[in-house]
Amino acid sequence: MNATRFHFACIAGIVVSIFCMLPSALCQDYVGQITLLWIGKPDTNLEARVAGFVEANTGCKVRKLAEPYVLESFEAETNRLARLSSKDDVCLVALFNTIQTNMAFCKAVFQADRIGICNIGLLRNEDAIKSQADQEIADRRVEKESMNIIGTLIGLPPCPFPLCVMHSSQSLEDLDSKGRNFCPPCHSKSQDLLTAAKNAK
Ligand SMILES: [Zn+2]
Repeated sequence: MNATRFHFACIAGIVVSIFCMLPSALCQDYVGQITLLWIGKPDTNLEARVAGFVEANTGCKVRKLAEPYVLESFEAETNRLARLSSKDDVCLVALFNTIQTNMAFCKAVFQADRIGICNIGLLRNEDAIKSQADQEIADRRVEKESMNIIGTLIGLPPCPFPLCVMHSSQSLEDLDSKGRNFCPPCHSKSQDLLTAAKNAK
């Protein structure tokens, strides 16, 4: 190999290496867009964590929005969520970081509007978080419920596989015992559903 070809090979190798190190967002062809709407007390670490997890495990671009407060009535809240949803959204998931006495549920799904609500206040009891391990369990609950809501909104049914995030959970213990991701069949089906939704637009 002469010097010129050697230099060319080195430069080409460097260019390929740099390209491969670029953030995946620059290289990725997203299968859709999901809006994550943070409502209430700010927690930028958890917000970024959930957004990154959802993006990595659904193949969808995540659009992040934030609202500082919860509206007074549940009806007004759902109307606001519908207005904040983009026409490009596959679905919108609202993460409520507040305990509202009139919201005694962990999650709600409005299939027709493609809107879901995850009530973080009931998943992360801050008084009960005493250690890093407690914090990790609490944060994973939010990831799991967000993924389950998204799966439900795009049309995935409950999954019989106990470790799949689409497996039904009736309690926090159930939630803690399952995984954060779609099992391989649910993941494959999710990509088919998202691709079909993208092509229908
Ligand atoms: Zn599954």
